[in-house]
Amino acid sequence: MRQKLVAGNWKMNGSAASIQTLLDGIQAGLASVKNAEVVVCPPFVYLAQVAQALAGTSMAWGAQNLSKEALGAFTGEIAAQMLNDFQCKYVIIGHSERRSFYGETDQIVAEKYATALKHGLKPILCVGELLSEREADQTEAVIARQLDAVIALNGIDALNQGVIAYEPVWAIGTGKTASPEQAQAVHAFIRSRIAAQAPDLAQKLQILYGGSMKPDNAAELMAMPDIDGGLIGGAALKAADFLAICQAA
Ligand code: PEP
Repeated sequence: MRQKLVAGNWKMNGSAASIQTLLDGIQAGLASVKNAEVVVCPPFVYLAQVAQALAGTSMAWGAQNLSKEALGAFTGEIAAQMLNDFQCKYVIIGHSERRSFYGETDQIVAEKYATALKHGLKPILCVGELLSEREADQTEAVIARQLDAVIALNGIDALNQGVIAYEPVWAIGTGKTASPEQAQAVHAFIRSRIAAQAPDLAQKLQILYGGSMKPDNAAELMAMPDIDGGLIGGAALKAADFLAICQAA
C-alpha cells in the first residue's frame, strides 16, 4: 500500500501574517488527517517561519523551486544547500508555471532533479500536457518525453527518491479538473512506463494528481488505484479546504 501524500503549493501568495493564520488553521485540524502525509511549500522567504512553526509536528515542508547550480554568482537564485538550512524535505521541480513562464526545459528540470537528490531533497517532479497537446492526442508522448529526460540524466533508480505529480496544464488554476478516469489513465500510463524498466520501483512510486483539486472532487480522484495524493494550488490557501482534501485521502 502506498502512503498518500497531499502537498500544498502556495505559489507567490501570502504574507507573514496570513501564513501564520494558515499554518495555525491547518495544525488545528491535523489530528483529523489519518491517511496522508501533509506537506506545504511556501515562498522561499517564508521557509524560516514555516520551519519554526512546524518543527516537531507531523507535517513536512518544501520549496517550490531550486537552482540547478551550487553556490555562486547566480543573482536571485536559491541553492539546494540553502533549502537544507531550513530542513526542507521536498522541492517542487518542473512545475508547468516554471516551464512556461521561465523557460525551464526538460533538460533543466532533469538537472534540477539531480541537484535535489545530491542534497537529500525529495523532488516532486511535475509533468503534464497542454490542452493543445491533449487535443492532438499527444498526452502520453509529452509525459513520456518529460519523464525520459529525468531518467536519462539520473537513471531510473533516481525515481525511488522522488514523487511524481501529474498536472494537466489545462486543469491548473482553471477550475477544470481532469475526470477521475482521465487522471487515472495517465497515472497508469506513468506507472506502466516506469514498470517497464523497474517494476518494484513503479509499484512503490507515489504519483500525485494536481489541477483544480478541491474538497468536492478530492475523494473520487484519490480513490483511483494509481492516484496517491494531490498537489494542491488554490485550495491549499484556505485551511478548511486544504484539510478537507487531506481528510479525503
Ligand atoms: C498547481 O499549481 O500545482 C495546482 C495544482 O494548482 P491548482 O490546484 O490551483 O489548480
